[in-house]
Order: sequence, then structure tokens, then C-alpha cells
Amino acid sequence: MGQNHPPFAAAARLEATQINDDDAPFCAVIGAGPAGLFAAEALARAGARVVVYEHKPSPARKFLMAGRGGLNITHSENLERFVSRYGEAARHMAPFIRDFPPQAVREFCAELGEATFVGSSGRVFPASFKASPLLRAWLARLARLGVTVAARHSFLGFASGALRLRGPDGGEFMRPADAVVLALGGASWPRLGSDGAWAAGLSAAGVAVTPLSAANSGALVAWSPIFRADCEGQPIKTVLLRHGEATARGDMVVTRTGLEGGPVYALSSRLREAAATDGETTLVVDLRPDTSPACLVRKLSRRPPKQSHATFLRRAGFTKAEIGLLREARPDGLPRDAEALAALVKSAPLRVSGVSGLERAISSAGGVSFDEVDADLMLRKMPGVFVAGEMLDFDAPTGGYLLQAAFATGLVAGRGAARYLGLLGPAPHAGLSPSHLPNSPAPEASNKYSV
Ligand SMILES: Cc1cc2nc3c(=O)[nH]c(=O)nc-3n(C[C@H](O)[C@H](O)[C@H](O)COP(=O)(O)OP(=O)(O)OC[C@H]3O[C@@H](n4cnc5c(N)ncnc54)[C@H](O)[C@@H]3O)c2cc1C
Repeated sequence: MGQNHPPFAAAARLEATQINDDDAPFCAVIGAGPAGLFAAEALARAGARVVVYEHKPSPARKFLMAGRGGLNITHSENLERFVSRYGEAARHMAPFIRDFPPQAVREFCAELGEATFVGSSGRVFPASFKASPLLRAWLARLARLGVTVAARHSFLGFASGALRLRGPDGGEFMRPADAVVLALGGASWPRLGSDGAWAAGLSAAGVAVTPLSAANSGALVAWSPIFRADCEGQPIKTVLLRHGEATARGDMVVTRTGLEGGPVYALSSRLREAAATDGETTLVVDLRPDTSPACLVRKLSRRPPKQSHATFLRRAGFTKAEIGLLREARPDGLPRDAEALAALVKSAPLRVSGVSGLERAISSAGGVSFDEVDADLMLRKMPGVFVAGEMLDFDAPTGGYLLQAAFATGLVAGRGAARYLGLLGPAPHAGLSPSHLPNSPAPEASNKYSV
């Protein structure tokens, strides 16, 4: 898998001319998530010696976790709309996404042996719905390019112009580097590695960092024990959620503590604010957004006398989780009257006590201000130090926009560092695709660059 795919096969033919030798400039990439690995590949292809320092025992744990949800790797909508998803950061993100657009992500996957497809919502997924095959093929390719991934190495900061690192034995050491790419991620799901600890260090160095806060969070609902036991992990498909004037449509999942899924995440900042102000807030669920109330009333009128709610609703096409959710919305009992039941199906109110915090949020908002970086994502106050991925101050909904941003900014930072090291010309990044990654000779597999 991942071998002999055209653009990189061309690079492989040049392996005999190894230029990443001991005299080549050394670049340290910190963080083996998608942004760091993308930067590492761009640097290695440009001829740099590259070590990726990762403090977890293995790379890309959050990427693998994203794979457990199907790995929505990008989105197929038109580029203008795509870029608008980054909200206030859209104007900063636009050149990066245009240089490495969604189609380039799909080609990147294909070159690693993983075909992608567009789902009915326009979201793009790998055929396997997993991250592990892609990551395995990618790490193998990086190893062939001479990139070393040094796991269990923690970046502690900078001192005397060198990196301060802690190795697997717990000992601290200094490592000079000709350039550094910081790709330490945001602060959500800290147990997967990105804990946002870097923010204090960079702020202390005078770099403006917008405080990191949870984004794309699940809603907290105090389910009854019976609903939780019966329905935890069950999907509820194609709902329309309403909170005040705002609506969001899509699939959601019942969790132990409430609800997760695209439409919930889309409303999460509103839910957070309202629950913080009022103690709790009401999220209204329409379980049949494509059926009119009149049609639903007709359907729910044909009820045999004495038939239980559960049997009747199941025969009318409602899943166990949907019936359970209606009961959660009306704990005093479901109405037998067809109109009242239809009204509940169209507007089931759930009491939301808040949203999950950074420990379970999909992403974090905040990060290194775009005012602090140049077009190559180099920190203006720290020449030679580049920033990529979720460390940057952007936020986006779920839908593939987060990974797309990690890939695109990883490439820009990697190329920028290569340019800083004199390995690439000053050409602007125009019309990039994976096959346009700096396509210089790839070295033979090697671990000779000790860490
Ligand atoms: C449950 C879940 C599901 C998701 N699903 C999707 C999805 O389907 N689609 C999508 O687009 N996005 C999804 N995301 C978001 C996406 O995974 C992230 O946006 C993306 O991984 C960010 O990439 P990154 O490289 O910037 O950071 P990360 O992937 O967080 O990588 C940063 C790396 O830096 C390492 N690190 C941190 N501090 C140090 C240190 N001091 N020293 C050394 N190493 C350090 C970390 O251990 C980590 O490996 C999901 C996230 C979660 C939590």
C-alpha cells in the first residue's frame, strides 16, 4: 500500500542522489500530528535533515482518534464557501487553503493508497473510514525520506538559542537546530497529547496568543439511567436542532453525558453561553425535519387501540433511540393524541446543562495570533521558528475543515522553513498539490540523525 503512486514514485527514482547528508541543515519539528508530519515531509523533500519530536509514545494520536469517528478528512464544497468556514480567520487561512485545497488532500490520500469518497453531505472520507492505514503508509514514506520520529521526547522551550527537550529517560538536554517548526496542536482531548502547555511559554516570550477554549463540544444532558443504559452510543440520524433562532442539521450520537455530532457542535458555543448565563438551556430536536406536521399527524393517527407507544412508534419507523429521546423530552409520559405526539416529534425539548470542556471537545479555539506570523508562518519575533496546525488562532466547524487546515498550514510552515534554510527558492506557493511538494531527491531509509 502507498507504493508506486505516480508523483512520489518520481521522487523515489532519485533516491540514489542523497542530499540530506550530515551537512544538510537540521530542522526540528515539534509534534507528530498531521501538521507536524506534513511540515516534516516538505522539509525532507527539500533536503533538510528532519527529526520530529513527539512527547507521546506514538505519533498522531488525535488523528487516530478522529479515525474512530470515520475520519472526515476534508469537504467537497466550493473553495469560497470552504474558506468562509474559518470565520474571522478566513482571510488569513485563504492563501494556505488555496495553495493546498481539498482536492490536493484527496490526492495525498490516494498516493498513500487510500481512496476517498464524497458522502451525501459533501464531506470527504477515506474508503476505510479509518486513519490507521493512511498513517501507517505515511509514516513508512516519511521513514524512506529519512525523517526520524523521536517519540517520548517533550519540548520544554528554548534556551540559549537551542531547543530544551526531555528524553525518554526523563533527562533534559539541549538540541541546537537551524530551524524549528512548532506543531503542538491545540488543547482539546489533552490525554491524546496536545495539552496547550506551549501557550504559556510563547506568551512569556512576547508572542500574542489568544487564550485556548473548547470548540465543537458535545451537549451535556442528564439522561435517565434507563435511556443511558439502552441508548448510549446509538446514532440518531438526520435531525434538525434548534436553539433560539439558530438551527443545525445532521446526525448525532447519544453519549453517556449527552449528545455529540456535527449539528450539536455547530450550536455548542451558543449552548455554552446560554447555559452559563441561565444555569441550563433548551435544545429543541426535530426528529423528522423532512416531514411536515400535517403529514406526521396523518401517519400517527392510524393507531390501533391499546397498542403501546413503543410498538406503535417502532412500527411507524422510529428507532429505539428516537423513542427514548421522546420519552426523555416528556418524562411525564408520551401523549396518545396524534397531534400532540407529532408536535413532540417535531419539537422535542431537551434540557442542556452545558457543553463539554476542553477534555472532550473536538477542537480548541484561540492560539498564536496571525499578526505574529509572516506569509510562511514564521514567528516575526523568533526568526527561524515556524508555527502550524491547531496552534494557530483559527476555529472551524466539523466537516473536515480542521484536518484540511492542519495539512495546509503544515505544508506552508515546512516549505517556509526550507526556504529559510536556503533549500527552496523564494517562489510564492502557487497551485500546490501533493505532487508539487518540494520534489527534491528522497534519501534512503535512515535513522542516522540521532536525537
Ligand atoms: C475525537 C476527535 C475527532 C476528530 N475528528 C475530526 C474529523 O473527522 N475531521 C477533522 O477535520 N478534524 C477532526 N478532529 C480534529 C483534528 O484531529 C485536529 O484538528 C488535528 O489533529 C490537529 O492537528 P495538529 O497537527 O495541529 O495537532 P495534533 O493532532 O493535536 O498534534 C499535535 C502533536 O503535538 C504533540 N505535542 C504537544 N505538546 C508537545 C510537547 N511539549 N512536546 C512534544 N510533543 C508535543 C502532541 O502529542 C500531538 O501528537 C477531531 C478531533 C477529535 C479530538
